[in-house]
Amino acid sequence: MKIAVIGAGTAGLAAAAFLKRSGHDVTLYEKFDSPRPLGAGLMLQPTGLAVLARLGLDKQAIAMSSRIEGIDGRVVGTGRIIFRIGYAMLSRRMFGLGIHRNTLFLLLYEKVLAEQVPVVNAASIDDVRYNDDGLPLIVAGERSFGPFELVVNAQGARSVLRSKFAWVRKDKPYPYAAVWGVCRDTQSAFKDWLMQRYQKAHHMIGVMPMGRLNGDTCESVAFFWSLRAQEHEQWRARGIEAWKAYVVSLWPEVEPLVQQFQSVDELNYATYGDVHLRRVHANRLVFIGDAAHATSPQLGQGANLGLLDALTLDECLADTSDVNAALEEYARRRKSHVRFYQKASHWLTPFFQSDSRFRPWLRDRCLGMMCKLPFLKTQMIRTLSGTKTGLFTHMNPGTIHPDYDLRG
Ligand SMILES: Cc1cc2nc3c(=O)[nH]c(=O)nc-3n(C[C@H](O)[C@H](O)[C@H](O)COP(=O)(O)OP(=O)(O)OC[C@H]3O[C@@H](n4cnc5c(N)ncnc54)[C@H](O)[C@@H]3O)c2cc1C
Repeated sequence: MKIAVIGAGTAGLAAAAFLKRSGHDVTLYEKFDSPRPLGAGLMLQPTGLAVLARLGLDKQAIAMSSRIEGIDGRVVGTGRIIFRIGYAMLSRRMFGLGIHRNTLFLLLYEKVLAEQVPVVNAASIDDVRYNDDGLPLIVAGERSFGPFELVVNAQGARSVLRSKFAWVRKDKPYPYAAVWGVCRDTQSAFKDWLMQRYQKAHHMIGVMPMGRLNGDTCESVAFFWSLRAQEHEQWRARGIEAWKAYVVSLWPEVEPLVQQFQSVDELNYATYGDVHLRRVHANRLVFIGDAAHATSPQLGQGANLGLLDALTLDECLADTSDVNAALEEYARRRKSHVRFYQKASHWLTPFFQSDSRFRPWLRDRCLGMMCKLPFLKTQMIRTLSGTKTGLFTHMNPGTIHPDYDLRG
């Protein structure tokens, strides 16, 4: 099948690699002059790792990043533990991975090049047209490419094709956003766990280890600070020193980290929102990754969902030569997993990033107690691990790749 994949992000790169390996004639289109990742680090869950294993990339990913045993969230000041949940409670074989975006990008990009997928750069695809046979062509300004038998849209959260071609149920920004950067953990103080500190729901500080970068002697960490989107300009104007002093007043242990930032420009700014589509495909055009289901990063699932989209799409296309039937099946297979994480992110985010006074109050009193109840604790770890497909249902990443089987 002649396929265009739009967007060289996590979802698009993985889709291009899987589809090419299955024998399709794939071309990848990217708007940047040369593809590159934006941002600091992200957490890969066992589901995402199992997908990487299907591409033969998991071992390299593990070697180049940091194993994460769980998440430790506390209130600033009192140090009250909101939750401390580890993957080991579900299975001793289970762990997450703190990985620099560039590491993940390079692994996938090199795989795409190794599979000999042609990459067309500086192609900002802004339209899709159909020829007389009903086959799609993709358009970048004056240029057009195709026709194709299938177009995979992996343009990310700000997809320009979404409003034109998808039946959008919801596309709503969150009032809260984040700045995030990379620093070196010279004192090895932040190992093995994703650490978060909360000041009501107004600020959230996160530190995630992500391995030794470029042969460095110490580990690097991704540093995350949430703030109201409206306050971003004020934050920049106040300057880096005022911010550092404030962060250290909330969480003194991060002083050696934040002192490494010399300018507000060293921190990337990210806004996010909820995207829900009624249908993820129409007329040989399918949406995957954030283009189909962007969420807040509260549960750290976006890249994992995108990786699973890519694999599932490839599997569905392999099962039938009827494109429409394959896309129907793709939508069916991804629905419950994606829907659970859309809902969970939407529901949980205001407890950690909002102006609400009541929600953080409730969070501080209830989440710690809930973690003591084995059933609820198990559900929380399953949610974190990316394996939930419903309130009471879950998947075993071993069905994606046997190395990630939770049994044993
Ligand atoms: C602060 C923050 C923290 C996060 N933490 C995590 C985490 O811990 N774990 C996790 O799993 N996820 C996390 N996420 C979410 C994750 O980053 C995204 O879900 C994931 O990157 C989406 O991948 P994607 O391939 O769908 O889109 P993207 O990575 O956004 O890639 C889209 C690609 O399409 C290209 N493109 C865009 N428009 C066009 C166009 N018109 N024509 C051609 N190309 C185009 C872009 O240049 C880009 O290369 C986080 C997100 C944020 C903001």
